[in-house]
Amino acid sequence: MVSIQELMQGATGADAKLMRGFASRAAGFRPSPVRDVFEVSMRPGIISLAGGNPDLELLPLEELGQMASKIIAEEGLEVLQYGSGAGLEELAELVCDFMESEGSRPRPEEVQLTAGSQMGLDLVTKLFTDPGDVILTEGPTYTGALGVFEGYEVEVQQVQMDDAGLDPAAVESRIRELEAEGKRVKFLYTIPNYQNPTGVTLADDRRAELVRVCREHDVVVVEDNPYGQLGFDGQHHRSLHSYDPDSVIYLGSFSKIFSPGVRVGWMIAPPRVRKFLQIAAEAVTICPSVLSQRLVLGFMREGMWESHTQRTAQLYRRRCEAVLAACERHMPAGTHWTVPEGGFFTWLTLPEGGRHPDAAEALPAAIDAGVVFVPGTAFYDDAAAHAAGRAPEVPTGAVNLRLAYSNGEPETLAEGVRRLASVL
Ligand code: PMP
Repeated sequence: MVSIQELMQGATGADAKLMRGFASRAAGFRPSPVRDVFEVSMRPGIISLAGGNPDLELLPLEELGQMASKIIAEEGLEVLQYGSGAGLEELAELVCDFMESEGSRPRPEEVQLTAGSQMGLDLVTKLFTDPGDVILTEGPTYTGALGVFEGYEVEVQQVQMDDAGLDPAAVESRIRELEAEGKRVKFLYTIPNYQNPTGVTLADDRRAELVRVCREHDVVVVEDNPYGQLGFDGQHHRSLHSYDPDSVIYLGSFSKIFSPGVRVGWMIAPPRVRKFLQIAAEAVTICPSVLSQRLVLGFMREGMWESHTQRTAQLYRRRCEAVLAACERHMPAGTHWTVPEGGFFTWLTLPEGGRHPDAAEALPAAIDAGVVFVPGTAFYDDAAAHAAGRAPEVPTGAVNLRLAYSNGEPETLAEGVRRLASVL
């Protein structure tokens, strides 16, 4: 992986001249480690446990094709034109109904449509943080979120999770420590369901308390829930948003229940805050893609999404079971892995004293053996720990690996695990 520092230092001539003019925040940009291994995973013969793309094989392509051409033929002059900055009113209404499955009852004026929850993350960080502010996240967390936060020059503080997600008491004591240091904690970023990268779900009996702790300390909760509908048992957990719509900003996405290529997601925030998000969103994209939103609306309205989501969740369940069974069979004694109840990922912890003290060092050997994964260090930001003089000797996450099981047949995934174990 080429780091930003290497890109900057290696520049010569015209590049170097332009790059001298970069804002200081460019030094915080980070290439996505997941996208980096993506190229390797496309090589023939390689089994990818790295990706994390939804499986689209079960999409009703023929019906979608007919729907798309009907939309263009009948509504072309609208869907090919600029649209509302907040997004399609009908889609906002549909989102409100959809959120009831998680116990939330937002109104359309609280909904901002986006080009995916990645954009929502960017908007919320842009709106709430000044350089030097603190954002709390789970340790480990989604690399794409770390990328956004670093670009806004904030300090990321990660609170270690256990098998039931974030412990509200640990969050509160970290907030207190930071307050005592005179720091401003702006928001807690959390992925409560089938978390990326661990597959862990926040226990239901911790949810109200986590929201209460944050509200008491004036810390906004940013709830990112792209996997919430992909529970293996078909159950939905209550959203954090449903506990306190005034202090939780919710990010939703159609990427995992429909298509990441259409780039449509949503945010829920109190109406006045939502208005600011709209202004910030308009500055980036003017309006969400009208055509994409109309396609999503059709897919959702026709009820295609429910059977699609149920069928894909069962697909992911079988793949997950195959990966966990292969871990049981092949991984070195003392290796620990999470047991996800939904979503795309499991998180491995290697035993102490293993062949590779840092899983990232095992990656080249794994590629030679025909398998790729994402090393655990990608999901941590050690910058804050370094600045505070308490940086760990080995990077945080060194003993961890994220394994994605969302793509590939169960037997192929199991073979990938066998290859990986032979290297570890
Ligand atoms: N949040 C999390 C936790 C994710 O895993 C992803 C996608 N991998 C995103 C946000 C971005 O999703 P979207 O396609 O909706 O932008």
